[in-house]
Amino acid sequence: MRKTLYLKFVLAYFIFGVFSFIVVSVFVPSMTTERLVREKAEDLYSEAVLIADTYATELYNSETDLETVKRQLDALALYMKAIIRIVNPSGRLVLDTDAPINVEEVVIIKDFDPTVTSGSYYVTDNFFDSFDSEVLSVLAPITSNYMVKGYVVIHYNMSNIQASCNSLLSVSYITMVVLFLLSLIILIFFTELVYVPLRKITYATEQYASGNMHYEFQVDSEDEIGYLAGCLNYMASQIAGAEDDQKKFVANISHDFRSPLTSIRGYLDAMMDGTIPPEMHDKYLNILLNETERLTKLTNSLLTLNNLNTKGMLLDRTDFEINRIIRSTAASFEGTCRQKAVSVELILTDDEMYVNADMGKIQRVLYNLLDNAIKFSHHSSVIKVETSVKKNKLFISVKDSGIGIPKEDLKLIWDRFYKSDVSRGKDKKGTGLGLSIVKEILNSHEEHINVISTEGAGSEFIFSLSLSERNEEND
Ligand code: ADP
Repeated sequence: MRKTLYLKFVLAYFIFGVFSFIVVSVFVPSMTTERLVREKAEDLYSEAVLIADTYATELYNSETDLETVKRQLDALALYMKAIIRIVNPSGRLVLDTDAPINVEEVVIIKDFDPTVTSGSYYVTDNFFDSFDSEVLSVLAPITSNYMVKGYVVIHYNMSNIQASCNSLLSVSYITMVVLFLLSLIILIFFTELVYVPLRKITYATEQYASGNMHYEFQVDSEDEIGYLAGCLNYMASQIAGAEDDQKKFVANISHDFRSPLTSIRGYLDAMMDGTIPPEMHDKYLNILLNETERLTKLTNSLLTLNNLNTKGMLLDRTDFEINRIIRSTAASFEGTCRQKAVSVELILTDDEMYVNADMGKIQRVLYNLLDNAIKFSHHSSVIKVETSVKKNKLFISVKDSGIGIPKEDLKLIWDRFYKSDVSRGKDKKGTGLGLSIVKEILNSHEEHINVISTEGAGSEFIFSLSLSERNEEND
């Protein structure tokens, strides 16, 4: 594709050159000759009319003699580089500036016909065979007493016109060659502005097609081609980023599946070969149960995330009472809370508060946040779930006074599989997917979530929800 595009352009350029040459060499000579002949004929005709009205009329009225008229017309003919003749209507030559006066010899132009110029006022031929070569001839009648006495005929050699035409033509050819050379600038522009960047883009596309998504290239122009190159670069970097994320994601999943499987296998081997005595089996079966629970949780979270990604925007939005959901979610943690002696305090605005969202998904958000708050809380501490209304939004805060999140981890906690070092000891079953799910759900609702946390003091997660219009109806 690369070679042919350039060749096509060069070919088009030369075809343009050849056609221009043909047009100039075919049309320009005929048009120029025609124009020059017409202009010359106009000049000669007005001169002939002038002679017919003056010298020739005087001659026919015998006001002057032939010799004097001949002298005057000879001078005029020399000046005009033409031949002036006075001819009788019968074709007899009365005077010819190209020949001396000879009264004895009667020269007759055979077949002379004064209407030869009818339609236009000139002819270009050898004038009734009286010339060997082609001449331009104009005729003006000499009238006296309303009678045509004769004609003034002026002949001009066509080779003179041809010579002027040729000199004009050579100017046209030179101009054409200069224009052709100047139009090379277009070829240079095409090469620099289109062909070279296009080659870069094509090469980059080949690199991307072969899987080298990290290939970078530069096209320094601000036109459409520069924009195309920029878009292509951006697209490749996005794909490369997505590929890297994918690889990291798969590596993390593999790692998180492998560790429980290795420990399950280890314990089972030890139980079978007797390293763990049968009286200890109960204890280790409990550990195995925990590990399988962790695997189940991991698989469920992955499935939830996958569904969120593929059907991200498919929300089943309804108006529902959020206080009831908060209470029921908190209640589902009763058992865990009792074990840790943790209490959950609910500070809710109004008895009933309606929001518009996907109920199931918001329940999941609350569940994940409460789960984390309890997991990372100290023994016998209090977790506060508080709601507040601002404009047409409901803000829900889940606040604990647990281990907190280190400042440098605050941005990372939303990433898939992220678990901070501090939390690892406290939470062996964590998958690092809980907050990613929370974020995805709130993003698809076009809502926001924020975290305020101090290491060692506790964390507060606050997210927004859209209030339902049902609240106003209830008021
Ligand atoms: P996990 O399922 O492992 O809890 P999350 O995505 O829910 O994964 O949380 C990611 C990390 O964020 C946790 O491992 C923990 O380090 C930190 N984190 C989340 N919530 C809290 C909290 N309330 N207090 C302290 N750390 C938290």
